[in-house]
Amino acid sequence: MRVIADRRRCVGAGQCSLVLPEIFDSDDEGLVLVTGEVTEAHNVGLRHAVRICPVGALSLRPDPSPGSGTPQAAGR
Ligand code: SF4
Repeated sequence: MRVIADRRRCVGAGQCSLVLPEIFDSDDEGLVLVTGEVTEAHNVGLRHAVRICPVGALSLRPDPSPGSGTPQAAGR
């Protein structure tokens, strides 16, 4: 599972980093950063974070196939 954080949508509400501080952080502007390594143990917390983000800035994707080179975060 990968988490995609759309920083263009993020309004810096900080809900995601309250749920999973080991995965989410914020930059100097308060916008989301994905800083931690996502493991299977985070699946429940990630789904919760996606649900409670007030602007729908977070989404989940299956792990990419090897060599696909898909980025983990979108936006600025
Ligand atoms: S919960 Fe959503 S709006 Fe708030 S910091 Fe996280 S991604 Fe941004």
